[in-house]
Amino acid sequence: MQVFSKSFTQQEPLSEKAIASAVAVMRTGRLHRYNTIEGEVSQTALLEKEFAQYMGAQYCLACASGGYAIHIALKSAGMTKGDPVLCNAFTLSPVPGAIDNAGGMTVLVEINDDYKIDIEDLKAKALSSGARFLLLSHMRGHISDMDAVMEICDEHDIILIEDCAHTLGARWKGKLSGSFGHIACFSSQTYKHLNSGEGGLMITNDQDAIAQAVLYSGSYMLYSSHLAIPDDKVFDQYRLVTPNYSGRMDNLRASILRVQLHELEGNCRRWNLLYGTIAKGLRSIAGITLPMRPRHEEYVGSSIQFSLPDWTPEKVKEFVGACAVRGVEIKWFGDPVPRAFTSRYDSWHYIKKHPNLSKTRRILDSLCDLRVPLTFDEDDCRKIVAVIEEAVFHVLAISTDS
Ligand SMILES: *Cc1c(COP(=O)(O)O)cnc(C)c1O
Repeated sequence: MQVFSKSFTQQEPLSEKAIASAVAVMRTGRLHRYNTIEGEVSQTALLEKEFAQYMGAQYCLACASGGYAIHIALKSAGMTKGDPVLCNAFTLSPVPGAIDNAGGMTVLVEINDDYKIDIEDLKAKALSSGARFLLLSHMRGHISDMDAVMEICDEHDIILIEDCAHTLGARWKGKLSGSFGHIACFSSQTYKHLNSGEGGLMITNDQDAIAQAVLYSGSYMLYSSHLAIPDDKVFDQYRLVTPNYSGRMDNLRASILRVQLHELEGNCRRWNLLYGTIAKGLRSIAGITLPMRPRHEEYVGSSIQFSLPDWTPEKVKEFVGACAVRGVEIKWFGDPVPRAFTSRYDSWHYIKKHPNLSKTRRILDSLCDLRVPLTFDEDDCRKIVAVIEEAVFHVLAISTDS
């Protein structure tokens, strides 16, 4: 029996440069973003400026988490209590959680066989719900047909908010993911493309949205020290009517992230090398299908997904178990029981009106997901493929026995 022994949740250590940068902040004791001395610019403010530059956006706010960024992005975009918000049903629980936190009503949209938002269902739900917002989650790095999405948003006057937790550094037709929407949100939680433990970033070119977001994040009337915001005058109409939802970024995490931003492009190339190795191996296994990824989708392969479309959920469950005993940890989105980070849309019971999503359900029933941490090398990837192949044979052998 093939056995793989590395951990799927072990990220690389921080680079020496990032560590040195963090230590320098710790030596000052000034970890709070608004705790600066005369003439000093905080690490958090610098991060916002540099992230905005990287993304080609005018404004940026660093905050507590990706989910927090989505929550205040919705509110800053003008969402009010009870507003319907369209969202693809294949996403992670903090996404509908952020909509709920902002007081919105999640309207789940079907996905297609390539794990992206289903354009026909998006059109239909845009009409039937009258939603003014689309929270498009580029779940596990799968970028939807952005031309079609933008066309629907334009036609129905829908404000697009992008969830780029898995697409930082990815592009659609050469344009960075996160530069399509009115607002885009990112996460620097350990399992994403930057790692500060926890953390969130949002970008926009809308001066009213960023002013409100900064105030929501808990700026204590000290927003003038930010570097990626509009003129103070923009804040005047919001400063006394916007509650403080305390969710700031701190200088320690910002100092780490500033260094990691420079390491991002190199890391994206490394992820894609590993992704390519696993994808190539999986494609040669009968029964497994990988999503079609169009030429102009320049993804970052920090995780890989595949389907076993002709298999029953029972067989897929058997397969996931056979991989697990061989050390390969597969997340199965068809599991009716939410486990760890993975949950299916129908387990979010707080969403009042659950539409019938038979297509999404069929796709999730056999959708398997693997993390690809940079602590793996190409040889590890080939071993993972060998384990998966053996597990497929194992399950097929059982089912022909019976
Ligand atoms: C991780 C994640 C988020 C939220 O990020 P946190 O920083 O953990 O709050 C949002 N969307 C997706 C798709 C994610 O994977």
